[in-house]
Amino acid sequence: MPMTRAPTAFETLIGGLDPAVLPASPPGTDPRYCRDWSGDYAGAPATVLRPGTAAEAAGIVRRCAELGLSVVPHGGHTGLVGGATPSMAGDEVVVSLERMTRVRALDPQNFSMVVEAGCILEQVQEAAREADLYFPLALGAQGSCQIGGNASTNAGGLNVLRYGMMRDLVLGLEGVLPDGRIWDGLKVLRKNNVGYDLKQLFVGAEGTLGLVTAVALKLFPRPTQVETALVAVDSVAAAMALYATARRGLSDLLSAFELIPQRGIALALDVMPGLRAPFATDAPAYVLMEASACGAVDLKGLFEGFLGEMLETGRIADGALAASSAQAADFWRMREGMIEAQARHGRHLRTDISVPISAIPDFIAETDRRLGALTPGSELLAYGHVGDGNIHYNVLPPRDLDEAETVALIRQCEEEIFAVTDSFSGSISAEHGIGLSKRAAFLDRISPLHRDMLERIKTAFDPAGTMNPGRILPKSG
Ligand SMILES: Cc1cc2nc3c(=O)[nH]c(=O)nc-3n(C[C@H](O)[C@H](O)[C@H](O)COP(=O)(O)OP(=O)(O)OC[C@H]3O[C@@H](n4cnc5c(N)ncnc54)[C@H](O)[C@@H]3O)c2cc1C
Repeated sequence: MPMTRAPTAFETLIGGLDPAVLPASPPGTDPRYCRDWSGDYAGAPATVLRPGTAAEAAGIVRRCAELGLSVVPHGGHTGLVGGATPSMAGDEVVVSLERMTRVRALDPQNFSMVVEAGCILEQVQEAAREADLYFPLALGAQGSCQIGGNASTNAGGLNVLRYGMMRDLVLGLEGVLPDGRIWDGLKVLRKNNVGYDLKQLFVGAEGTLGLVTAVALKLFPRPTQVETALVAVDSVAAAMALYATARRGLSDLLSAFELIPQRGIALALDVMPGLRAPFATDAPAYVLMEASACGAVDLKGLFEGFLGEMLETGRIADGALAASSAQAADFWRMREGMIEAQARHGRHLRTDISVPISAIPDFIAETDRRLGALTPGSELLAYGHVGDGNIHYNVLPPRDLDEAETVALIRQCEEEIFAVTDSFSGSISAEHGIGLSKRAAFLDRISPLHRDMLERIKTAFDPAGTMNPGRILPKSG
């Protein structure tokens, strides 16, 4: 007689689901669900499920809860802290939002749109542009990351100094709680002052409180004028002085302000074919700055006048205002190339810290001093969205180290950078979040009361601890 065995929890979960929910290839074979962008994290999903609607997502989460299975919400998988990579144990169900890609509503007069969580950020930007509107979140991964992932990580990016982080751009949210109930908080109101702001609990929760299935977003008038300049400065201090002057001198129309060190330009030139050094002579640091406006403002005149004055008064060493959108794109390719070159270098330390804007020069000088002594053979690279106080202080270890030595060096450098960050009352995560990789360092830095409050919020939403367990807080039980 043939032996019959009881179905496993995973077989029970999958049984009866619409086949469209299952991925084309078996779970564990598609690198999209197993490896993160950085290559630092790898995992083995028990299975991958791809709901097409909020109701379907809720049904999956409810069944997982009934079967005691853990859920890992999965967006575009561009996160850099290991939050969406399932564990190696093969005991976590990946729920990917990739099929939920509808724009549910767009209201030009209300300057708002409602989109499903699986919409790629670039698609959201494009949908707004088609309506002559603007969604300002912009980041290097925008062709892959999803708006639900952006909300769940409280993404920042290039335009934060003018428009804020994702937290500032979310008007409403729809989420599936860990027990499978759907919370409809999809209002498109600017003012809604009714006690605790529940949508904001999902923003930045990194999938630990539930699935985000849709968000209502704030839109803005589409900038019809954009001016981009690359300027050379004598020091980081000069760059930050320029920032304060530029906010005033450009009538607060500044929308991006990126610090790029000389070494960053050299790295970009190595990997970006066709790019040329921006100026005849090198400078210690460069700033890529952008201002944008709509309506009758003469932005070009304003920017030209500002740069002229900065040159005359010696506050910048050199500068070029992009003469065309192609030249502006080349300026931005310098920044992208610097990141690409680091990825090609292989394993390296990537940090994402913030300090008060005014403390940036001292922070970088002190970190340079300490790391220079600690690791003389490494390349040190400090760049980023400094208009928000955000610095990526990265370390490229010498290539002749073996794997174990590289890992040890990275850990040591990270501890040092975080210690300097603490001394400036900064944050060890400006925008990438905590996930798995920053959890220990984060928990070491918060008070018992802070931790108790976080744990109570987690338990209130997810008493069984099955929603993205181990991210931000350790697994319960
Ligand atoms: C080249 C590059 C440049 C980047 N630049 C920036 C930058 O400038 N600023 C910045 O902030 N980040 C940046 N990032 C990091 C990353 O792109 C953002 O964190 C992004 O918001 C992640 O979105 P995602 O859809 O890829 O999420 P994922 O990586 O899939 O997931 C990230 C976290 O959110 C959770 N999650 C995802 N979707 C949902 C959902 N629908 N519901 C609940 N939880 C969910 C996951 O479980 C995980 O914990 C960059 C990354 C790369 C690779």
